[in-house]
Amino acid sequence: MNDPVHVLQVALPVPLPQLFDYRPPPGSGSAMPSDVGRRVQVPFGPRMLVGVVAGVGPSTNAPAALREATGWLDAAPVLFGELDASLRWLARYTHAPLGEVLATALPAALRRGEPLPATHAWAWRLTGAGAAGLADLKPDARPRRFAALLEAGPRDEDALDLLLERWRPAARTLAGRGLVERIAVAASQLAPQPHPGPIPNDEQQIAIDAVAACNGFASLLLDGVTGSGKTEVYLQAIARCLAQGRQALVLVPEIGLTPQTLARFRARLGVPVHALHSGLSDAERARVWAAALRGEARVVVGTRSAVFLPLPQAGLIVVDEEHDGSYKQQDGIRYHARDFALVRGKALDVPVVLGSATPSLESLQNAISGRHLHLRLSRRAGDARPPAVRVLDVRKRPLEAGLSPELLAAIDQALRDGGQVLVFRNRRGYAPVLLCHDCGWSAHCPRCSTPERGHPMTAHAVGRRLQCHHCGHRAPAPPACPDCASLGLQPQGVGTERIEALLAERFGDVPVLRIDKGSTRRRDALEDLFAELGSRPGILVGTQMLAKGHDLSNLTLVCVVGVDEGLFSADFRAGEKLAQLLIQVAGRAGRAQRPGLVLLQTHHPEHPLLLTLVRGGYHAFAAGELEQRQAAGFPPFAPMALLRAESPHAEPPMAFLRAARRVLQPLSGRTAEGAPTLTIDGPVAAPMPRRAGVYRAQLLLSADHRGRLHAALDAALAAIHTLPEARRARWSLDVDPLDL
Ligand code: ADP
Ligand code: ZN
Ligand code: ZN
Repeated sequence: MNDPVHVLQVALPVPLPQLFDYRPPPGSGSAMPSDVGRRVQVPFGPRMLVGVVAGVGPSTNAPAALREATGWLDAAPVLFGELDASLRWLARYTHAPLGEVLATALPAALRRGEPLPATHAWAWRLTGAGAAGLADLKPDARPRRFAALLEAGPRDEDALDLLLERWRPAARTLAGRGLVERIAVAASQLAPQPHPGPIPNDEQQIAIDAVAACNGFASLLLDGVTGSGKTEVYLQAIARCLAQGRQALVLVPEIGLTPQTLARFRARLGVPVHALHSGLSDAERARVWAAALRGEARVVVGTRSAVFLPLPQAGLIVVDEEHDGSYKQQDGIRYHARDFALVRGKALDVPVVLGSATPSLESLQNAISGRHLHLRLSRRAGDARPPAVRVLDVRKRPLEAGLSPELLAAIDQALRDGGQVLVFRNRRGYAPVLLCHDCGWSAHCPRCSTPERGHPMTAHAVGRRLQCHHCGHRAPAPPACPDCASLGLQPQGVGTERIEALLAERFGDVPVLRIDKGSTRRRDALEDLFAELGSRPGILVGTQMLAKGHDLSNLTLVCVVGVDEGLFSADFRAGEKLAQLLIQVAGRAGRAQRPGLVLLQTHHPEHPLLLTLVRGGYHAFAAGELEQRQAAGFPPFAPMALLRAESPHAEPPMAFLRAARRVLQPLSGRTAEGAPTLTIDGPVAAPMPRRAGVYRAQLLLSADHRGRLHAALDAALAAIHTLPEARRARWSLDVDPLDL
């Protein structure tokens, strides 16, 4: 008998849970174990796809019947070692096809089959003529100052950005005269030129020492109030990691990655800092990935998907604001970057630091159970004092654009004292509803929610335009009521635009800036706004985009309005999210010498969540919430998975989920106490039952422990995939769903 011929087992970005066999590309001999991790182009049906070789082995089909791969895209593997192993773990955990997981992890350019890009940093150095002619340059002029910076040796462009403003024209002038030249250097060859930071206080020092004491993997929860100097702890830990010649990865939430953050990291660490975020082009993202793979990127600060960077010389992973919801990917492969960072830290055998002023209940519970080392920073760093928080009862008070007279007086006072004011309202637009005062008609989105009861369209532009914040549908506001022809259409409720309009009218002599998705689409727009404001008295009005980001040292008053809706939401995580948001927004006040005040305006001053938060702070709230979660059998005490289905027609999602339920039901056993090991709730309509014209339903699974949940899914999914009902609905599985 012949030896079985070995073929390539290729992971392809298709929603099918298997690998696909191909013969190696023409002229490349037989499949070798060293091919694993190389990208390869293959025919798939009528299409060409880019896949990754996930294994080589004997073919299950007759090799002659197999198609041949078209060609190699890499000479050597791009996915290997720890990253490859961790991604295979992720595929098992999310119960997703390996090919789709690998495609999610690779940057788009590599996914399309483009070659791994070249990576280097640019630096400038003096030429021989430049070194000799330095003294002839006009003293104090920018070209002279630029040339002087290069006297000690080449400097990279990142470092130059920090050392001399507008150095580029000077560099061009000198280059034109042959005095300086631009050279490509490997980032790893640049010697760090760190700048010292403040001297750590006792609590910071304990945290820094705890990270330094880690020998291999450990998870640490750095639980520190806003402004307590968590970033300083990260910076010290990263500096130590760099000194050992290792790479550091810092994950930040989408809105946390500001130019200010990057500049602080660059200046302090003294090495080029690579940024990875959604604002980059595909080519730039691929360059950062390649630089990480080659070990050239020493420090990467990035948002969610940066958790997929190769880190061959890893020394440390930091997850800042670990509670932030933007770490969870909400479509495709539904991974949680914080949780995957922990998995990678373990596989890489390096410490993982999770930082937050408002840790997620998951992480707090892990700290309580001893899985994470719990490090506390209880005071603000430097001279800053914590802000005073007061609840303003506005029942029966006259409101203008939702603001009470007391609040307006406080704003007036803060401005007169030369301070800045932040008014937080987590609803953009002019008003959440456009209502007919005569017959009760209101504007609803034609594409969202159930046909009987639409989802209200938000009024924008003083009620002239309508927009659905769920599907983006836009329409001009009708001139008269479509039902009764009345002209009495009135915007109801208050959004940021309406507050902005009132404040601009009231406090016309100071700038009033609105910050929300509508006003600041570009990442830099926000920075420009802050730069324009400077430290002058002024008012910022905005949504949760204001909760994080640029430090405003002159911000003395924070007003929180219209959070009452959040107090009565059905989602079991709503309380946690609201508490986090309130603490984060409040934390923006009084960051510097001036004391801060937070005013929380509400119709429910006796609500337990508000009372607990104001009296006991976040941890008092969290302790009570954890007790309730445990009693109710919710995460973090019981793992969950959510099966979602959607279709342009009403019936198929429910039919599919009912069929899935029939597959899952028999898999539930009984615990010793007689409770089911697997609880199945539903199917029910999704919280937004129709969005953008698509009907949505869901089935919730929870189990008494994680292993049991995964075993049930493993046992059921193959059958669920082949259900006849599965062909009529689009469905997906979300393990550890954030939004139910
Ligand atoms: P966090 O990340 O917890 O919000 P930061 O690290 O940004 O806090 O620190 C808040 C402010 O306090 C920053 O301006 C920082 O420079 C300053 N700071 C941090 N640690 C110290 C310290 N030990 N001494 C003086 N100032 C400090
Ligand atoms: Zn009407
Ligand atoms: Zn809509």
